[in-house]
Amino acid sequence: MKIFLSRPNIGEEEIKAVTEVLKTDQLALGPKAELFEKLFASLTNTKYAVAVNSGTSGLHLAVRALDIKDGDEVITTPFSFIASANCMLFEKAIPVFVDVEEETYGMNPDLIEAAITPRTKAILPVHVFGQCCKMDEIEKIAKKHNLKIIEDACESPLATHNNRQAGSFGDCSVFAFYPNKQMTTGEGGMITTNDEALYNLFLSLRNQGRGNSLEWLTHTRLGYNYRISEISAAIGVEQTKKLPRFIEEKRELANKYNSVLGNINGLTTPITGKSNTHSWFVYSVRVNAEKRNKVLKGLNDNGIQSKAYFYPCIHLQEFYINEFGYKAGDYPIAEKLSEELIVLPFHHKITNKEITYIESTLNSLINNN
Ligand SMILES: *Cc1c(COP(=O)(O)O)cnc(C)c1O
Repeated sequence: MKIFLSRPNIGEEEIKAVTEVLKTDQLALGPKAELFEKLFASLTNTKYAVAVNSGTSGLHLAVRALDIKDGDEVITTPFSFIASANCMLFEKAIPVFVDVEEETYGMNPDLIEAAITPRTKAILPVHVFGQCCKMDEIEKIAKKHNLKIIEDACESPLATHNNRQAGSFGDCSVFAFYPNKQMTTGEGGMITTNDEALYNLFLSLRNQGRGNSLEWLTHTRLGYNYRISEISAAIGVEQTKKLPRFIEEKRELANKYNSVLGNINGLTTPITGKSNTHSWFVYSVRVNAEKRNKVLKGLNDNGIQSKAYFYPCIHLQEFYINEFGYKAGDYPIAEKLSEELIVLPFHHKITNKEITYIESTLNSLINNN
């Protein structure tokens, strides 16, 4: 038996849409990307969306567009995928970490003000695993100190906090469509914003710095090729239409897991924050740090593909230690989570029989020696 950690949910609609694009002559810069942007903006309650070729590209453009540069500081968290801090390093800016909250794994707003210095330009909260950070509080702090907000919503499309959606809080927000995310375009990403000037800047930056006339060989500023292809965009259109259903299905699977795994001694199921709705990027459980690696190995040896997320934390990645001198103990909650969490198989093809098998395997790995 082999149960995969994640699987993309691709149907006949995506296959048909890609085939149709391939029969046209327009494989880039065409109507599918525009439609994808329109649908995605509407689904996330934002005015503008700009499709790009990855979430990482989107984060890089967000940093560029907000004019964050050499020596500027951006407050973010170490309990995330590496790209949310690397995007500062691309521009020689400095990620300044604050620890996370133990329940939802999001940035702890109570720690932000102590991390602000005269060089702080922005806050970059990461909505981890499908849950929003406490954005009302983060917005208040940003406003008080005149800081920008870049939301990393790559793992949390359609998640809400106090009835507001991920992607609608910051100056701009970034989503990602790698195959393990809630929806996929193969590779791809999206930036959303309500600011028209930023929107126009994103259009230019992703397209080699061309001006709005889009005169092909006129470049107004330093830009990149972060465009998405029409093939990926065609997949994105169909996936965007299905996203609410995908997330509903993930929610049902998470509920099943919660009720089946909730009785295992020595295992903690995930907690949804009081003002949050969860959009379920991964399903994670916590076990004692001393047992975690043994349990993880046992799961994988038994065909249950599982991973330690996010291990190590960003500040304990080798090149962060070398560059900034971080050490174990700097961000204790993030480190504890990274030593205790196990991400389990979580996709649309998992059967009840497989859930039962995962439950009994986990139980014996944790509670029999
Ligand atoms: C997936 C992810 C990204 C980057 O996405 P890519 O499309 O793989 O570049 C950024 N931040 C977080 C938190 C992510 O999970």
